[in-house]
Amino acid sequence: TQRINILGAPVDAVTVAAAVARVSELIARGGTHQVVTLNPEYLYRAQREPDLLAIAREASLVTADGVGIVWAASVHGYSLPERVTGIDLLVALCDRAAAEGWRVFFLGGQPGVAAAAASRLKAEYPGLMIAGEHHGYFTADEEAMVLEKIKAAAPQLLFVGLGAPKQERWIYKYRQQLGNVVAMGVGGSFDVLSG
Ligand code: UDP
Repeated sequence: TQRINILGAPVDAVTVAAAVARVSELIARGGTHQVVTLNPEYLYRAQREPDLLAIAREASLVTADGVGIVWAASVHGYSLPERVTGIDLLVALCDRAAAEGWRVFFLGGQPGVAAAAASRLKAEYPGLMIAGEHHGYFTADEEAMVLEKIKAAAPQLLFVGLGAPKQERWIYKYRQQLGNVVAMGVGGSFDVLSG
């Protein structure tokens, strides 16, 4: 895949289908991988908060989450195939996970929301293996417990809905403690899916 650069951030020229194929390769390879769906707001903040650029640069996959990103790429003479949002990729990955037997963990949202989103997805994709879920309002004291819960659940996919860029920072900070997993921030997707 072609990786282009927009305002210091990498963006991979992928469709939703190509992003799913890439995640499949990452799972097969093993290790911890971060996926960033880069939206204009993230890119804007990253100009002043360089850790956000570093997170995007180290990510195994960065998608263009917004027509603004696709447009900015075109201004620089690059063509991105389509917008790939967190929720689109989440749903497409759950579809694939159901077929592959990948275990999926949902972290984030108000208590009950991740669980409701997970059961909606399970209804849509019956083979989906829900490894676990946890709400996104844990305290600093509960952080270790949450990490332990994820590790014990041993998911291949971890969806983190804490809002951007908190979720990207969280995944990055704890990447060494998450085990073999592909982790991706999904913003308010659980709210959308549970409602
Ligand atoms: N959230 C959370 N913990 C927090 C802050 C936010 O779990 O400490 C959740 C919140 O309940 C919502 C999501 O993160 O489900 C943020 O959604 P929003 O649409 O604001 O995020 P965006 O899509 O803009 O990244």
